[in-house]
Amino acid sequence: MRGSGSPPPDGAERLRPGGERAGPRLRARIGAGVAAAFRATLDALLPPHCLTCEAEVAVQGTLCAACFRGLGFITEPLCARCGVPFAHAGQADARGLCPGCAAAPPVFAAARAALRYDEGAKRLILPFKHADRTDLAAPLAAQMARAGAALLARADLVAPVPAHWRRRLARRYDQAALLARAVARRAGRPCVPDLLRRTRATPALGDRGAAERAALVAGAFALRRGGAARVAGRRVLLVDDVLTSGATAEACARVLLEAGAAAVDVLAAARVPDPRLASGAAA
Ligand SMILES: [Zn+2]
Ligand SMILES: [Zn+2]
Repeated sequence: MRGSGSPPPDGAERLRPGGERAGPRLRARIGAGVAAAFRATLDALLPPHCLTCEAEVAVQGTLCAACFRGLGFITEPLCARCGVPFAHAGQADARGLCPGCAAAPPVFAAARAALRYDEGAKRLILPFKHADRTDLAAPLAAQMARAGAALLARADLVAPVPAHWRRRLARRYDQAALLARAVARRAGRPCVPDLLRRTRATPALGDRGAAERAALVAGAFALRRGGAARVAGRRVLLVDDVLTSGATAEACARVLLEAGAAAVDVLAAARVPDPRLASGAAA
């Protein structure tokens, strides 16, 4: 069942980008200015197009109705802990947990994501990750702010799940850091983009089992120098683009908790639904 609920009434409006840009600060500022001027000129000349297709829209930086309907917004019912969407409320146990969290709760306090990672979400997220569409950070962050309102409200600071420097170099920007900055700015929370670093590259976790995933990411993250003073006694909100198994978020959360963080929450743009729950079977 897709997006068991209708999108927020002002969802289309919230999918408007705010013109945020990646890269070193100065270049980003100049780049953003040039891009905004360029966009304004284009707007005056051409009818605005949907963020993810060629359809014309009334307002620049929004989705057309078809692309908007194609998004699976994650709404209740969902696991109180990891945020995995349920097909129906009966899949939760007495504490509101999914079978996975009931059997082995994650070290993070709660995780939430804005969208189901399906074909609709991929139309937004894949260009954002791989095709330099950094303008999509703002509309994604707007949806994350909706899904993670409670987590943002209790966060002392926001930090991204770090990319390995080699990957960051290849992509020229760090998509989780862009999202972290954008959601932190929306909520008025401090963002520490380099709080964590990846000490080694990890292979794609894709089809691997839970134990193998955990082993692959164990020890792959470390706090930046001086980071312990930032996290001691604080509630940290970790931000990532796509939550798959939660193994990466779990490894990052463990580093933060060992450094003395009071608690760690996780917020992602999208998450891969649990196929065992999508069928509608009871927990
Ligand atoms: Zn469209
Ligand atoms: Zn769960």
